[in-house]
Amino acid sequence: MSTTHFPIAIIGAGLGGLTAARVLHVHGIELAIFELEASAAARTQGGMLDIHETNGQKALHAAGLHDDFLKIVHEGGQAMRLLGPDGTVHVAEEDDGTGGRPEVDRGDLRDLLLGSLPGGTIHWGRKVTGARTLGDGRHEVTFADGSAITTDLLIGADGAWSRIRPLVSSAWPAYTGISFVETDLFDADTRHPRSAAVIGGGFFIALGHERGVLAHRESDGSLHVYTALKADEGWLDTVDFTDQAAAKAAVLAHFEDWDEGLRALVADADTITSRRIHALPVGHRWHRVPGVTLLGDAAHVMSPFAGEGANLAMLDGAELALAIAAHPGDTEAALAAYEEALFPRSEESAAESAANLDTMFGECGLEQMVAFFTSGPAAQ
Ligand SMILES: Cc1cc2nc3c(=O)[nH]c(=O)nc-3n(C[C@H](O)[C@H](O)[C@H](O)COP(=O)(O)OP(=O)(O)OC[C@H]3O[C@@H](n4cnc5c(N)ncnc54)[C@H](O)[C@@H]3O)c2cc1C
Repeated sequence: MSTTHFPIAIIGAGLGGLTAARVLHVHGIELAIFELEASAAARTQGGMLDIHETNGQKALHAAGLHDDFLKIVHEGGQAMRLLGPDGTVHVAEEDDGTGGRPEVDRGDLRDLLLGSLPGGTIHWGRKVTGARTLGDGRHEVTFADGSAITTDLLIGADGAWSRIRPLVSSAWPAYTGISFVETDLFDADTRHPRSAAVIGGGFFIALGHERGVLAHRESDGSLHVYTALKADEGWLDTVDFTDQAAAKAAVLAHFEDWDEGLRALVADADTITSRRIHALPVGHRWHRVPGVTLLGDAAHVMSPFAGEGANLAMLDGAELALAIAAHPGDTEAALAAYEEALFPRSEESAAESAANLDTMFGECGLEQMVAFFTSGPAAQ
């Protein structure tokens, strides 16, 4: 099979890779994306994301898409409720439209970015299996279908289990000690009115006894719930998620002393799946390697407890593209400038995520989070 050459190759069409591509495109710079999924519609992207002024929205401005982003914001989504395990409401904030963290559906945001790229930019169904340096700043990337490409600039935007990361770093994500069980309750107002009322219009947290429930009301009227607990890495393997009733019982056994309205978020669910939460070491960085860099989760996957991962991935993508545009013909200067800002920025958020994990799942998680949300903007 012949090897095609691409000046810039981005691996991964997640929010980070797509933002990098869009900002490069805005600056008239040619690029190609290689994505393992078969098509844009191969997988539902579900989940709400709050997009912050300081990073995610900044990236959307650089991409020339901020006005279009405002059209897909989930109105009311910035509401939040914080409950104790007995169902007591400790914090209840409505969305008055003035918050700086509007919520969007991840799939809508991805569609916005996909639609902003010229046709043919993304090579779907191309799973990277390996990459190697050719010794002169160029790299060869190989795919599961047996094909290969070469590139002058290789950008690893391929998430937590990046196949590009080993070119710059031997770090590997480690289990954080937190396991999630995810449930969906569809058409909540009609089919699950009690749960819809418990969650409210936006983001929801219940904490207590080193356990938690995090949830969102989605823009399609469903509820997406993450039940989180401290558990051994192997615990999820002991639960049969193909047997919904057995899986629900196994999870609820850890929440026996919790309020029935909270337990119903699992007991009444229409779907149930699981995931372990992994993170790279806080402060992960690498020495400059000619012709290759990382962005987003590939560079700094962290636990989701600061709500920064997707926002950072988008800012990384935008900043990398802007650095490339600012250093025409000097890729190394562009990558050095990008990484100089990337490392301290991601270290700060990774440290915040790790600290929030300790707080939320510590003995006084509820009390500390109530204090955080009620002690005014200076504390937030
Ligand atoms: C439960 C949970 C909740 C979260 N909530 C939030 C939140 O509220 N706010 C927030 O900002 N962040 C949140 N995050 C974090 C956020 O999801 C990630 O940080 C973000 O998706 C990272 O974007 P990315 O583009 O770097 O990587 P990804 O979104 O992982 O995209 C990587 C892309 O690369 C592709 N790919 C992977 N391997 C290969 C390969 N070998 N070959 C080709 N393509 C490949 C994948 O298919 C994918 O399309 C959450 C994470 C989790 C787990």
